Amino acid sequence: MRKIIVQKFGGTSVADTEKIKNVAKTVIMEKENGNDVVVVVSAMGHTTDYLLKMANDLSPNPSGRELDMLLSTGEGVSIALLAMAIQAQGYDAVSFNAMQIGIMTENVHSKARIVDIKTDKLRKNLNDGKIIVVAGFQGVTEDGEITTLGRGGSDTSAVALAAALNAERCDIYTDVEGVYTTDPRIVPKASRLDKISYDEMLELAYAGANVLHPRSVETAKQFNVPMRVRSSFKLDNLGTLILGVEKMEIYKPVAGVAADLSQARIVVCDVPDKPGVAAKLFTKLANENISVDMIIQSYARKVSNTNDIAFTVDRADLTKTVEALESLKADLGVTGEIQVDEGIAKVSIVGAGMIDRPGVASTMFTTLAQQGVNIKMISTSEIKISCLVDKADAQRAVQALHSVFELESDEVAEVKGDLPNI
Ligand code: ASP
Ligand code: MG
Repeated sequence: MRKIIVQKFGGTSVADTEKIKNVAKTVIMEKENGNDVVVVVSAMGHTTDYLLKMANDLSPNPSGRELDMLLSTGEGVSIALLAMAIQAQGYDAVSFNAMQIGIMTENVHSKARIVDIKTDKLRKNLNDGKIIVVAGFQGVTEDGEITTLGRGGSDTSAVALAAALNAERCDIYTDVEGVYTTDPRIVPKASRLDKISYDEMLELAYAGANVLHPRSVETAKQFNVPMRVRSSFKLDNLGTLILGVEKMEIYKPVAGVAADLSQARIVVCDVPDKPGVAAKLFTKLANENISVDMIIQSYARKVSNTNDIAFTVDRADLTKTVEALESLKADLGVTGEIQVDEGIAKVSIVGAGMIDRPGVASTMFTTLAQQGVNIKMISTSEIKISCLVDKADAQRAVQALHSVFELESDEVAEVKGDLPNI
């Protein structure tokens, strides 16, 4: 049987018609290798941002349904253009949107999850020898409503398609050459990783290394789909392979360092120290669809019999979070204030090699201390240690950690774009 390769090209790879022509060539090359090819594309360039801006010009709070109707059009443009470009080079191609295929999602707007993908139409067209071009980022509910998967969601569309089709691999073509030990804009001598495990990639993604949509890696892990992240402009470089940890040899305790500058910290002061309070608080946030990241509850104060609960949320959810908390204060018996700190960054080290290797945390804290960086919160998982620090310290912290864990390469990586907002 022929192998199926799913390829995904992001917005920068299809930013104009010249680039779309190049994408068509890369797609055809894979077809010429003797594989069946399904291509997933994002909207051209900054189309999604532009559509969002128009929506916000018209309404401070556009409805989720109409927003999804609008944003899903971006991908509709690129699939048709890419199919034409492939046809123009003499190959048979057909484009489909999510409704036509049946990329079924839950009934949630702007961050829907895929629940099922119908494969009949895909299989039939592959059997007819066609190259299939699919719109990323979008889905459809059982009622026929259009949904989107969240910003950057085309990666997830691609991996979900690869899983549904039992594909050999999902290749994510992007504007970087792979996954790096840290952001090369912060550390020019960051190294490209040849391989990384799903779990490490997930932790790095959640820690703020936004190479991939985290849900794409979750899906790849769940269905054991090997992923490759590679540059659509430098095809001689094979990029980074993401796969199960059992297929890897691990030499270093830390694989990567990441900084997440997108969060804000909230402290709810003087929360009664009794059962059910945290449950109520976080259930309320969950019901509002607000994801919470780090959580710390202080040791209970004896005299007042209260705790402080501190946690971080995406800055985009900050207003919603504070509103939800204010509405809950009386019911919970919170007597203190709700403090907000937007000037923070989460700096994380990630590596499957830190399991069973003592001293990694102490090296991290010592390194930060030597840099005079104050740690505001700490959280850990089996393969990650995160410290919340002042935003102004983030760059220095990342550079020092990258160096102490010996992640530097001999070469200076090619830098794309401006320094993230540090
Ligand atoms: N076009 C969407 C976005 O900009 C989806 C994607 O690029 O993956 O977020
Ligand atoms: Mg994108």
